[in-house]
Amino acid sequence: MTERLKNYIGGKWKESKSEEFKEVNNPATDKVIAEVPLSTENEVDEAVNVAKKAFEKWRNTSVTRRTEPLFKLVQVLKDNKENVARILTKEHGKTYGSALGEMDRTIQMVEGACATLESNKGEFTENISKDIDEYSVRRPLGVFAHIAPFNFPAMVPWWYAPWAIAVGDTFILKASEQCPMTQQKIFELIDDELDLPRGVINLINGGKDVGEMLISNPDIEGITFVGSTNVGKKIYSEAAKNGKRVQCQTGANNFLVVMPDANLEKIMPNMMNSCFGNAGQRCLAGSIVLGVGDIYETLEKTFIRYAKDQKIGYGLDEQMDMGPVVSKKSLKKLHSDIETGIKEGGKLLLDGRNVKVEDHPDGYFLGPTVFNAKKGMKIFDEEIFGPVVCMDKVDTLEDVITMINDDRYGNAATIYTEKGGAAREFRNKINIGNVGVNIGVVAPMAYYPFGGMKDSFFGDLHGQSKDIVNFFADRQIVIRRWMEK
Ligand code: NAD
Repeated sequence: MTERLKNYIGGKWKESKSEEFKEVNNPATDKVIAEVPLSTENEVDEAVNVAKKAFEKWRNTSVTRRTEPLFKLVQVLKDNKENVARILTKEHGKTYGSALGEMDRTIQMVEGACATLESNKGEFTENISKDIDEYSVRRPLGVFAHIAPFNFPAMVPWWYAPWAIAVGDTFILKASEQCPMTQQKIFELIDDELDLPRGVINLINGGKDVGEMLISNPDIEGITFVGSTNVGKKIYSEAAKNGKRVQCQTGANNFLVVMPDANLEKIMPNMMNSCFGNAGQRCLAGSIVLGVGDIYETLEKTFIRYAKDQKIGYGLDEQMDMGPVVSKKSLKKLHSDIETGIKEGGKLLLDGRNVKVEDHPDGYFLGPTVFNAKKGMKIFDEEIFGPVVCMDKVDTLEDVITMINDDRYGNAATIYTEKGGAAREFRNKINIGNVGVNIGVVAPMAYYPFGGMKDSFFGDLHGQSKDIVNFFADRQIVIRRWMEK
């Protein structure tokens, strides 16, 4: 029988009473591998209530005790990395190598949050006036919820959860309904191995409706969201209207810029990983490749040669560079985007639609697809979120900078060059949150915030590191004097 996923509420696994379940398919085989509940309002309320109750004690638990479970979790995740990575590949489609990489990143996030003891300290000023001192006390705020995207089912929720717990808040995760199994496994490990008081961390399954219930629940202090721009924009205003702290990391359309001096053979593996790794379903994936000046013609040829060589198949087959996209719906949308690209005059240089994976004829596979297209076309300007790339020639670095700054998104951009001056000019002038120099996937480490500007981010404090500590904690200011010596 197909596994029915459960919610983890108040330290207990609970079967949902919902009448609505969504099938989770293995994208490489189209087989149903689980059913995820679209939880009810009562279940959401129950999760919020237990998290609220747990907060009263957790906020006054010693800071070292609050971080202890995170040190343990690092080891537990390391010990179970392969097992979780296999589940991740089965539900998402990414290659096993990528899934292991994602697990490494997840572990690094938890390690990063172990330093919250240091980053969450208050300040003290003696003698702001005679015999008067002022200090700030950092305080947790209450219950926070995270609404997660499908594309990094293991890692993204852990951009937030470990810091929230360490600061003294309590946490509710709504996993992506498309890929909910990985967090189910991680929460099983938490339940089996960690000594966390009931209700400090909770998992509630569901889709848009559960997301909306969390945003409108008055007992939730804040929301962190990662997902598409349209949804993030709406959540940002709704949650703020409801008086909550909110930050939303959203969609992207990332530029890879190749300067005339770049060594094409050396940079190609990095570019392939950026554009086609995770089947292009990364918010940091390269999707627009620009060649500056005369290098363009050779760049186009070399890029296509390498793209044709990408091995596509079941992610658990370790030979593969690329797996399928996440769903039949996504594959259909990608086909339609490609059609639109052709209709609007884009030149299809490489068509991935006819790719065949012999052992898995029902999988949602799309091979690397490359257009020569122009700004102003939908295929060029919108986030496509698949292994589809647009290439174009640009005359100068100044033109590149103007084009990037005119783009609605501001998540990532990379320059390929060995010329420090050009790289500096590029970095200095572009309004982009994560900038790469000869690095095509600019994924910030746990001890830096995750960048993002323009329509790629709504809020002021970003995910990860000190930023998220500040998001999860408030400051109480105290000014004091003693009347007697
Ligand atoms: P999505 O916006 O469709 O869904 C994200 C989450 O929001 C899901 O859990 C979904 O159930 C929930 N949701 C959907 N509609 C909602 C609503 N109206 N109210 C409340 N919750 C709602 O995104 P996705 O397809 O799962 O993920 C892909 C997107 O995420 C891409 O656009 C990608 O660029 C973006 N992303 C951004 C970053 C970043 O750091 N900037 C990182 C990863 C992914």
